[in-house]
This record gives sequence, C-alpha cells and structure tokens, in this order.
Amino acid sequence: MDKIQIRNLEVFGHHGVFPEENKLGQKFLVNAVLFVNLHEAGLEDDLQKSVDYGEVCHYITGFMRDQTYKLIESAAERLAEKLLDHFERLEKVELEIKKPWAPIGLPLESVSVKIARGWHTAYLSLGSNIGDREKYLDNALEALKELRGTKVLQVTRFLETEPYGKTDQDAFLNTAAAIRTQMQPLELLKEIHRIEQKNGRERVVHWGPRTLDIDIIFYDKLVMESEELTVPHPDLENRGFVLGPLMELNRYYRHPVSGKTIACLYKELGQRAMAELL
Ligand code: ADP
Ligand code: MG
Repeated sequence: MDKIQIRNLEVFGHHGVFPEENKLGQKFLVNAVLFVNLHEAGLEDDLQKSVDYGEVCHYITGFMRDQTYKLIESAAERLAEKLLDHFERLEKVELEIKKPWAPIGLPLESVSVKIARGWHTAYLSLGSNIGDREKYLDNALEALKELRGTKVLQVTRFLETEPYGKTDQDAFLNTAAAIRTQMQPLELLKEIHRIEQKNGRERVVHWGPRTLDIDIIFYDKLVMESEELTVPHPDLENRGFVLGPLMELNRYYRHPVSGKTIACLYKELGQRAMAELL
C-alpha cells in the first residue's frame, strides 16, 4: 500500500518512569509511516483524498506534549489508536518513538519502540432465542459500536431461523455484522464474551438456548486455531443462519482456506439439504 513517511519529528514530552522525567521533560523523536491509498489524491491533485501530513505532525506534537506516560510503549500504543481514529483515510500506521536522552547512565545514541497498528475487518454472527430476542441483538450491536477502536459498518436484517444442533428449543433470531476494528482477535473475543455476559448469557448447555451468542466468522483473511478461538468459524459451512445473513453482507467474500465465495458455500449447503430430503 502507498505510504507517507514522517522522519524524526522533534517533540517535547514528559514521558518516563522517573519522576524527574515527568517534571523536567525531554526531547523525543517520532517516525511515522502512514498507510493510505494515495491513488485518487494523486490523480486529482486533491488533499482531501489524502492524509494531511502537516496536520498529523501537529497532532503528534500535541499528543506527546499533553499526555504523560511512564512508558514510550504506552505513548506509542495510545498515539497509534488516536491517529487511526482521527484520520479517516489512514488504514495502518507504523510509529517509532525514539528517546535520545534515555537516563540509563550509559552513553547511547537513542532507544526506541516501534509498533504497527491498523484497521481490520471482521464478520460477526449474532443470535438470540430467549426473551426479547430483538432487544438482545440491538443491545449487542450498540455495545459493539462502543468498543475501543471499533466501527460497525453494516448490519443485516434480523432473520428468524430454526434451532441448530440441539433442536428442541425456541427459534432463533439471527443477524450478521461487518465491523472495522483495531482490536486483535483474542481481544475482540474477550469483549464479545463480556457483551454476552452483560446480556444474561449463561453457558449451561452446549448449543443450548441463549439470550445472546456472538461468533467471529472471519477476521481479515486470518486463519488461526487455538483453545479459545478458531477463525474462520469452523462450522460456518453447515450453518444456514450464518451463511444467510453473510449473503446479505458480502456474497463475494472468499473463505481464506477453501477459496469458495459465501454465495458458493450457501448454494452447496442448500444442495446438501435437498439431497438429504431425497
Ligand atoms: P457456540 O457459539 O458454538 O454455540 P459458545 O458461544 O458457548 O458456543 O462458544 C464456546 C467457545 O467457543 C467460546 O468460549 C470461545 O472461546 C470458542 N470459540 C472458538 N472459536 C470461536 C469463534 N470464531 N467465535 C466465537 N467463539 C469461538
Ligand atoms: Mg458463540
């Protein structure tokens, strides 16, 4: 992706573990690589279609001056989050904060931390089959909007579906949402569990009735398997209540392992269901 690079922006701040550092302050140098699609801006010679690097430099200067952290790790983490929130066209940012006068009692040119943070796209599946199902789904969508560094891009219609796996329970109301988030997958899962719990979710029976279930179906093109999290969701090919709403979100999206589109998986599921009837 295209980049705008800012090198050695000199700023003043009070970050440090020692109280003297917090009191006196010192010089820091900031390197930033801004990942932005510059094609349109370049063709049209239009700053609105780019990210104004002057504004970014002033933003960084203000942040480093006004906030105080013990660690430059924290300063970098928070600054990256703020930049991604503030500059709409910024897809990803690499930030390096250098501390040339790090008080360690030894001569060194500088010490620095360097991080890369960006936006990720995730598809979530949501379902409820106890109580006021619509209210639980609405609550969940509101709670997702409130998450750190997260935007809800698109939500599908609510779809009534028959229970899956354990069939002697009430019908579900399902939906799916596309979100943009700065969160890492496990961090997102933790937040999802918190939202489920806040909405009265009790894990009693596997596949049993629930006020609210939120699953991560896709996270970018990530493929991962662990105790806590498997992405893409391992059972998505068999679930009409997941694939149906996903059809509405993005039927052309390809499963990163099989390479099949949502439309193809949906059609295959329908064919399997037909074959079982025959
Ligand atoms: P289910 O959604 O299959 O009905 P639960 O909601 O009770 O079941 O989830 C059981 C566990 O599945 C969770 O504790 C979570 O750690 C794990 N899990 C694994 N992969 C995912 C995923 N992609 N999305 C959500 N949870 C997942
Ligand atoms: Mg779940």
